Amino acid sequence: MKALIADDDQVLRMILEKQLQSWGFDTVTASNGEEAFNIITEQEDPPRIVLLDWEMPKLDGIALCQKIRSSESNDPPYIILVTGHTDSDRIATALQAGANDFLSKPTKPIELRARLGVGMRTLELQRRLNLANHMLAYKAEHDELTGLRNRGSLIDRLDTEIARSQRTGENLAVGILDIDYFKRINDTYGHPVGDRVLKEFAERMRDTFRPYDLLGRYGGEEFMVACSIPEEESKRVFERFRKAVAETPFLKDDLGLEITVSIGIRQYTGEPGSIKSTLLTLISDADAALYRAKNGGRNRVELTDHLESKNAGRHTDLDESQILDAEL
Ligand code: GH3
Ligand code: MG
Ligand code: MG
Ligand code: MG
Repeated sequence: MKALIADDDQVLRMILEKQLQSWGFDTVTASNGEEAFNIITEQEDPPRIVLLDWEMPKLDGIALCQKIRSSESNDPPYIILVTGHTDSDRIATALQAGANDFLSKPTKPIELRARLGVGMRTLELQRRLNLANHMLAYKAEHDELTGLRNRGSLIDRLDTEIARSQRTGENLAVGILDIDYFKRINDTYGHPVGDRVLKEFAERMRDTFRPYDLLGRYGGEEFMVACSIPEEESKRVFERFRKAVAETPFLKDDLGLEITVSIGIRQYTGEPGSIKSTLLTLISDADAALYRAKNGGRNRVELTDHLESKNAGRHTDLDESQILDAEL
């Protein structure tokens, strides 16, 4: 573990450095508060434990603690303030400034080592907590079966994309992709096979679209893709995906299923309007195009020209909470 020793007294710095190294720490040193702050904030692999002298030039230990704590980090360093002042007022000041612990000079090796141990335990708990939070956040935003974004996070991201398009005037293509006759797969081969098809479908989406396109599972066997792409290219991009589905059988090592997909696209070039109503219109219009693709014989891509948009999708009769929340 990397530790920073910040002290303006060179001899003390060296003593602490030697001790910490003998206990297996990687050490870095700083001779004033400003240098310490730069090490903490700018190093790629910053120190996790920080031993700060109270009195140092440029920025003292207290000011430095406050500065470190003011940057909101999920993974802050563990700070031990080291000082000759041991009265209660001083200790309280140090802890209030954001120090995790307090140690008086001259430091006794046995105590220093024990307190570093507390620091390491705290950091380990912090690491685990961050990891758990990260996993929970990921789960809340992703569909378990396919690993794609779920409906809620799709809608959130789509809001952002709409706002961006309104700002930049860049064309946004929103596609709804619905697997054709998917029910038959379940009915013929069973639900687990249906699940495997959905997984493979998602993989093909990831393979075909670009990493920065927004991909998600909108519900059941319906998916959504939103990409910033010139108007004249969108149809080609979605057409490429349609072919990627139709031209290679699914689960080819055992069942080799012929699958096709119908796709409805709605383009948007940042026309003004509230984000929410724009979102509803885009989804509804993409859905209207999808409906045409289904009625036109499936395995095809249809585009709603926004000038002709009549909100004619299945969703038109539904209220907005149904479009945004309900399973289709
Ligand atoms: P169409 O060409 O008109 O889209 O016909 P379809 O059969 O694909 O459409 P329909 O909406 O009738 O059926 C969709 C089916 O998708 C019904 C539902 O049981 C199935 N489904 C939804 N979610 C899942 C899932 O997570 N796993 C599996 N295996 N099937 C699912
Ligand atoms: Mg000093
Ligand atoms: Mg469907
Ligand atoms: Mg379907």
